[in-house]
Amino acid sequence: MTLLELSDVSVHYGRIQAVSGLSITVDEGEIVTLIGANGAGKSTTMRAISGIRPISGGTIRFDGEDISRLRGDLRVVRGISQSPEGRGIFPGMTVLENLDMGAYARKDRKNLQPDFDRVFELFPRLAERKTQVGGTMSGGEQQMLAIGRALMAKPRLLLLDEPSMGLAPQFIQQIFRIITEINRQGTTVLLVEQNAQQALSRAHRAYVLETGQITKSGTGKELLADTSIKEAYLGVG
Ligand code: ATP
Repeated sequence: MTLLELSDVSVHYGRIQAVSGLSITVDEGEIVTLIGANGAGKSTTMRAISGIRPISGGTIRFDGEDISRLRGDLRVVRGISQSPEGRGIFPGMTVLENLDMGAYARKDRKNLQPDFDRVFELFPRLAERKTQVGGTMSGGEQQMLAIGRALMAKPRLLLLDEPSMGLAPQFIQQIFRIITEINRQGTTVLLVEQNAQQALSRAHRAYVLETGQITKSGTGKELLADTSIKEAYLGVG
């Protein structure tokens, strides 16, 4: 079943067109990844889906509903939750408070314990640091907290913008393993990544974004084997 569908979506920043006529789909249960160079429009696409940035053309449908003009907080209620690029946790709040904020849009806020348990199982490091203030945590820990907070919304679709950015190699492996586990537990994932090798090997399907347009798509395996992708994104000449 198609969970998310972008048809002919355009996004502008003033007169700059960052995304031009972009069409992608994400099926329920998939991990789909968007890869592309700096400035290709990956983050802008994520912002358009979460509603942070309005679209200037096209339509976005979620679970069959046209959400193109729906407010961002109502998209969270529908089941779309984003872990933004650059982490964006609340630096003055503790781990527990940050996670609690992630659940703000839920109607069933009385019973969050299973969700806290799920996050602490995925990220034991966060369990050890429940009362630590977010801003004092390491980059990798803040990244985990941002993903954990997004999961507290109990999303059907989790948007992850550059989860491996700035992480030490051992954390990168770990984050991708955790993303696969989150998906295995039933959450659909749309992932934006510079680390194309890891992202493509974890994804069911992938799209290549160049200057605001999709130039290629296929299964993760197909794109990993594609010569031009190897040259452009995988550092293999
Ligand atoms: P990166 O991997 O470097 O974050 P990206 O693929 O996520 O790149 P975007 O951040 O979506 O790319 O940017 C797409 C284009 O839109 C770029 O040309 C960028 O300069 C422009 N852009 C992004 N944000 C703004 C903004 N707030 N105002 C003006 N232009 C912007």
